[in-house]
Amino acid sequence: MKINLSNQDVQSVSVGKVERLSGEDLKKCYQCGNCSGGCPVSYKMEIPPTRIMRMLQLGRLEEVKAANSMWLCVGCLQCYSRCPKGCSVAAVLEALRQEALRESADRVDVKELPMPLLKKAPQQAIVCGFRKFVS
Ligand code: SF4
Ligand code: SF4
Repeated sequence: MKINLSNQDVQSVSVGKVERLSGEDLKKCYQCGNCSGGCPVSYKMEIPPTRIMRMLQLGRLEEVKAANSMWLCVGCLQCYSRCPKGCSVAAVLEALRQEALRESADRVDVKELPMPLLKKAPQQAIVCGFRKFVS
């Protein structure tokens, strides 16, 4: 597929913000694929970790933000431990979640959660879930 890129895309201000928030240098990624290979949930992600890094390098932030990947990441750090360049996709996804939640794009509506689920779920899971999915 042909991709048309402009300098504006590649030096996107929004992607620069993701780099600052995550502390990661996206340019270091050379697309070896180790992160996706080790990620336990990449098979469910609309955009797997390796592609997330590439798409951000290309300034395609909006597509990455629209995908479910950042919400599925379980923060296990397999991607980081396997990366030969020391990149943490986990940190990048955390930065994307922070940005989304700052825009009040809550992933779940607390009021919509069914009571039987809330009664059954461990308290810690509920707190962690709210921290991750709600602004
Ligand atoms: S931290 Fe997230 S992206 Fe990285 S391997 Fe674990 S689930 Fe996948
Ligand atoms: S493991 Fe590191 S260098 Fe390899 S694709 Fe993932 S982020 Fe890029």
